[in-house]
Amino acid sequence: MELSVFEIFKTLQGESSFQGIPTVFIRLAGCPLNCSWCDTKHVREAEGKLISIDEIMKTVPLMGTPVVEVTGGEPLAQKNCKVLLKRLNDQGLTVLLETSGAFPLDNVDSRTHIIMDVKPPSSGEAQSLLKSNFDLLGTNDEVKFPVANREDFDYALFIIRTYEKRLWKVVFTPVEPEMEPSILAQWVLKEGPPHGRFQLQLHKILGIP
Ligand code: SF4
Repeated sequence: MELSVFEIFKTLQGESSFQGIPTVFIRLAGCPLNCSWCDTKHVREAEGKLISIDEIMKTVPLMGTPVVEVTGGEPLAQKNCKVLLKRLNDQGLTVLLETSGAFPLDNVDSRTHIIMDVKPPSSGEAQSLLKSNFDLLGTNDEVKFPVANREDFDYALFIIRTYEKRLWKVVFTPVEPEMEPSILAQWVLKEGPPHGRFQLQLHKILGIP
């Protein structure tokens, strides 16, 4: 059983409540979406290298950290991704999944920490979000809102109001250079939900992958 992999590497987790923790990233190739400000276009358009799940399972434990994130591209666009998530969890690792929310989250191993990156109007892909995915989020899961302008922030507030009971962890992050971080920080402070977290992408600040 194989997956099309763009790269496997270790770095500091740049986002989410795991920010700053050394993490192995399994970056799967390809994504059918086309966000206007996609910062991984090279991954979205790549074919990747076919690697068996068995081989991935041998590689990850050698990288010296028990935290692993499966990302993309859009990882759930590959049907074997859910098998990989189960295998990683069975290994006792702390498993994160970063997804756009455009693919069903059903049958994602319940031990997985889902980070659902909700694409706002400025991405041109807001319509891709599967709203039914909100019903599948648990207390360990996070919803991240990239924000490029005021319309995006208002959209995020609308989603938060609508799915309030399913959102335990909420992160706002500026799309740069379109969004000035200090302005978004003020919006979050004044209008964001009590549990909303403002966050800059640590890996970009540090200039690391
Ligand atoms: S979902 Fe992610 S990888 Fe796909 S186009 Fe949007 S930003 Fe890029």
